[in-house]
Amino acid sequence: MLIRSISRTDAAPIPTASARSRILTASRSRSARDSRHQYGDAIDLAVDANRDGKVSAADTRLVALAVEIVERAHPDLVGGMGIYTRSGPAYVHIDARGQRVRWRG
Ligand SMILES: [Zn+2]
Repeated sequence: MLIRSISRTDAAPIPTASARSRILTASRSRSARDSRHQYGDAIDLAVDANRDGKVSAADTRLVALAVEIVERAHPDLVGGMGIYTRSGPAYVHIDARGQRVRWRG
């Protein structure tokens, strides 16, 4: 669902699992607000959403837009979203805590 929304925002064909897209490992150091991983309902996405060959802050904006679209269409899926662009690889944390929370890291 999220990938389809990303694809729509990009006005491009639905991407297949891309070698440039990856799910970050749980071993990253995380802030206290990004602790949902311990409950197994969170994911960190580093995806080349605009397919420019790199994962950057521009990609996190597309992912964030897709998350907002999905949550608007499916209010039962609201959750946390953290956008990390300040240090290290850009990625978006998404979780299903059942409450809309946003932050930047
Ligand atoms: Zn996370």
